[in-house]
Amino acid sequence: MSEVQKQEDQLAIEIRDLNKWYGEFHVLKNINLQVQKGERIVICGPSGSGKSTMIRCINRLEEHQQGEIIVNGVPLVEDVKKIEAIRKDVGMVFQHFNLFPHLTVLENCVLAPIWVKKVPRKEAEATAMKYLERVKIPEQALKFPGQLSGGQQQRVAIARSLCMNPDVMLFDEPTSALDPEMIKEVLDVMIELAQEGMTMLCVTHEMGFAKTVADRVIFMDAGQIVEENEPETFFNHPEHERTQLFLSQIL
Ligand code: ADP
Ligand code: MG
Repeated sequence: MSEVQKQEDQLAIEIRDLNKWYGEFHVLKNINLQVQKGERIVICGPSGSGKSTMIRCINRLEEHQQGEIIVNGVPLVEDVKKIEAIRKDVGMVFQHFNLFPHLTVLENCVLAPIWVKKVPRKEAEATAMKYLERVKIPEQALKFPGQLSGGQQQRVAIARSLCMNPDVMLFDEPTSALDPEMIKEVLDVMIELAQEGMTMLCVTHEMGFAKTVADRVIFMDAGQIVEENEPETFFNHPEHERTQLFLSQIL
């Protein structure tokens, strides 16, 4: 195996010269990003800078017009089968949980494994219970999402993603819709996941989380990656004026 090949095998995600427009609006401008397997990346930046759009492109919730996105060695192109494969490998957790309100917690967790992965129900339920235990709410399994607190719902959403046994987890501001007292219980689950070696891309402004787990922090503004660095340097010696301004507003 060549050195280049070996290096590519270590990449969970590769984004090359990504450009995206919403109509006339140039929302992502020449994004380049390589994520190693097992790497934890935090993405921050002002509202409207394109953070959600970028991570939504990674599992094809949004289409891009230019450039390449390669997930686990598979380029994202107009091939539905490949997109399904990517969605199986890449879990996503949203700001507003996006659980199915008419299904119990357990049914939320087993739905995709049974229907997409064809896992037998018994096995899917056992896996679901294992992950509900991991996020510390096995006793909520037969309740409906509306009967749970926001923090509990978000932990269900994380467990549900894990039930698909993803290689990569994408988080889009997972704690920003939560009451302050519930933020920690969700961050603790994310920290555990990071410590177990999950490849993670997290859009978040929880800078304590970034300092604890991130290998790299990326700052986006106006559709571009303005600056990226390991947390120590990023927070203590931000290079660009826009990064400095942003940090002065949130820290
Ligand atoms: P962030 O997550 O950093 O707040 P977004 O990726 O959500 O930013 O949005 C980036 C920009 O794209 C914003 O100006 C937003 O209004 C715009 N935008 C987002 N989604 C759409 C859409 N579906 N159609 C048109 N414009 C959009
Ligand atoms: Mg967003």
